[in-house]
Amino acid sequence: MTVMIPYGRQDISEADIQAVVDVLRSDFLTQGPAVPAFEKVIATYCGVEHAVAVNSATSALHIACLALGVGAGDVVWTSPITFVASANCALYCGATVDFVDIDPRTYNLGVERLAEKLAQAEKSGCLPKVVMPVHLCGQPCDMAGIHALSQRYGFKIIEDASHAIGGKYRGEPIGNCRYSDITVFSFHPVKIITTGEGGMALTNDAQLARRMKLLRSHGITSDAADMIPQAQGELWFYQQIALGFNYRMTDIHAALGLSQMQRLDEFVAKRHAIAKRYDQMLADLSAMTPWQHPDSYSAFHLYVIRLKLAEIGKTHREVFEALRAAGIGVNLHYIPVYRQPYYERLGFQAGYCPEAERYYAEAISFPMYPGLTEDQQSEVVAALNFVLTH
Ligand SMILES: *Cc1c(COP(=O)(O)O)cnc(C)c1O
Repeated sequence: MTVMIPYGRQDISEADIQAVVDVLRSDFLTQGPAVPAFEKVIATYCGVEHAVAVNSATSALHIACLALGVGAGDVVWTSPITFVASANCALYCGATVDFVDIDPRTYNLGVERLAEKLAQAEKSGCLPKVVMPVHLCGQPCDMAGIHALSQRYGFKIIEDASHAIGGKYRGEPIGNCRYSDITVFSFHPVKIITTGEGGMALTNDAQLARRMKLLRSHGITSDAADMIPQAQGELWFYQQIALGFNYRMTDIHAALGLSQMQRLDEFVAKRHAIAKRYDQMLADLSAMTPWQHPDSYSAFHLYVIRLKLAEIGKTHREVFEALRAAGIGVNLHYIPVYRQPYYERLGFQAGYCPEAERYYAEAISFPMYPGLTEDQQSEVVAALNFVLTH
C-alpha cells in the first residue's frame, strides 16, 4: 500500500524529544516551571502582556468567551468557514451563534458583510456581544476594519488565530491583540507549532487574564487579593470563587511547545516557500491559488485551491476522490459550520451564507507542512494535472 501524503503534520526534532524527556525526569509533570516559561516566550514573541496556556484552543475559546461575560441571551458571531470549535464555544456558555458570510478573495469573515449585518442587527435590537474573526489558513482578517466596527457597535473581539501563530498583520505579530480583546492559538499537531494538544489565550487586559487563569483551574485562587474575606491566613488556604474547569496544560506539553518555538519562524518561512512553489506550478491549471492581502503575512497553516469547475469536465467530488486514490491526503477546510446536522437542528438552512457555500463547492486543501519535500509537492501537482486532463 502506498503511504498517503497527509495534508498536514508535525515536525519533531531530537531537541523537542529531549525537552520532553527532561520534564519526565524532573519534579513537576504539571503545574511546574515549563508552563509559565512557554507563556512568557509566546507573550514576548507576540508583543502581548498576558498569555494563558490551556489544554486546547477549544478550551481557550471557551474561557475567552466566559471572561468576556458571554452567557444566556447573548449572541456571538463568527465565520461559517471555520472549525466547529469557533462556534461551539459560544453554545457552551448558553449563548447563541450566528454566522457572517466570507470575503470572496480571502475566505475570511467579510468586513462588508459584517457592516451590513450589524446595521440590520442594530435595527432589530440583537447586536452581538462578541465577534470572532478566524484567520483562515493563517491569513489575518481585516482586523482594523473589524475593530472600527466594534467601536461603533460596542462588541468585543476574540481572534481565533488557531491557524496563525507566526503570521503578521500590517507588519506586526498576530497575537499582539492591537485590534482585539483576546487572541487564541492552537497547538494541535497539524497546526504551525505543536504541544500534542494545547492552546493559549493572549490579552493585554490584566482582568481578562486573571479571569481566564481562574477558569482554567476550577475557579480556585490562592491569591489573597482575589479572595472573599473570611477566616484566612492559614498556609493551606484557597478559595473557589467561580465555576471553573480543569483546562490546564501540563509541563510535558509546554516543554514541547517551548522547544518548538525556537523553530517557529523557520516553519513559517518553509511554508511560504512551499506556497510559492505551488503558486508557480499551479499557474496553468484550472485552479485558483490562494490570494494574499497585501496587509498580511500568512502563517500558511493551509494551502487551499479552488477548482475552476466551469473549465473542468469533472465534479469537485470526482477530483477530490481521484486525488485521494492517487495517495494525496487532500482535505476540505471547511464544511460551513451551519451545514452540520447539529447546527441545522438549531434552525440554520442551506444557502444561508452563499459565498461560503460557493467556496465549499470548490475548495481543496493541498498538503502543506514543513517536512513536505519538493518531490512530494511535484507528485501532488502531477496528480491534480492528471485528474484535470484525463
Ligand atoms: C484547530 C482549530 C480549533 C481548535 O483547536 P484545538 O486546539 O484542537 O482545540 C479552533 N479553531 C480553529 C479555526 C481551528 O483550526
